[in-house]
Amino acid sequence: MRLPTRHLLGIETLHPRDISAFLDLAESYALLNRSGKTRRDVLRGRTLINLFFEDSTRTRTSFELAGKRLGADVINMSVSTSSVSKGETLLDTAATLNAMNCDLLVVRHKASGAPALLAQKVDAAVINAGDGMHEHPTQALLDALTIRRHKGTLEGLTIAICGDIAHSRVARSNILLLIAMGSQVRVVGPPTLIPSGIEQFGVSVFHDMREGLRDADIVMALRLQTERMSGGLIPSAREFFTFYGLDAAKLALAKPDALVMHPGPMNRGVEIDSQVADDVTRSVIREQVEMGVAVRMAVLDVLARTALRNA
Ligand code: ASP
Repeated sequence: MRLPTRHLLGIETLHPRDISAFLDLAESYALLNRSGKTRRDVLRGRTLINLFFEDSTRTRTSFELAGKRLGADVINMSVSTSSVSKGETLLDTAATLNAMNCDLLVVRHKASGAPALLAQKVDAAVINAGDGMHEHPTQALLDALTIRRHKGTLEGLTIAICGDIAHSRVARSNILLLIAMGSQVRVVGPPTLIPSGIEQFGVSVFHDMREGLRDADIVMALRLQTERMSGGLIPSAREFFTFYGLDAAKLALAKPDALVMHPGPMNRGVEIDSQVADDVTRSVIREQVEMGVAVRMAVLDVLARTALRNA
């Protein structure tokens, strides 16, 4: 597999062939993880730094686990413990990390484009673990792997992404990936939470959940990203749930075997009802977390090999 760059900054720059190759490798890591074995030779002697300027539970821990299962030395840095809280700029931080000869740098930042900026300044391969409202490529890859495992393909599916599309990097990366792989994507939400002009990405827009979910193969609920909202974009969480919360009645309009997905963290009773989230016959939310480790192992593996080739 030959990537166009040595970094993974977004889905936008990936060819469908690269996406499939990542997913095939991740599938083999998912099987390895289930067998309880590790492959510590893959990243032995390599240093992985997790640099998180925003909170994270799943993404940070799964990159840590992925790095460790492949034998890397893993260091977790969060802003509260780093010099950034003492006023150091992003570029000073980059220079410091560079001096440590880090091989793989996983970055989450509230500013869109921060990982791309770091990528220009460090020798390490940079992986975007979520930048503002821009992209979250490993989330889209793990969602795709979860879908492919259940539906056998990413082509010809109807996928409804519901809720706060405007502030969601998960929505953006998923739209780019799923359209590139040949699925139909619908975005469903109130006009205030759907960016104008989003149709240019090839999606169809729905403001009524009953229409948006009709005959969908996949229903993906998204959290209200209140940390990125300015002003009241919804009347109240309770009203949002009434119209846009994913509950059994709304899900009944999708295909009988439609899968329920959510990137986490979930706000139960706001964008998703517990009954639906915990229904093991429909919800693949836990499997998404499991596939997150496998996908991140594949990404670290591929980027480390790309770096070796370019060395
Ligand atoms: N965990 C995802 C993200 O970092 C989704 C969310 O926070 O709602 O974008």
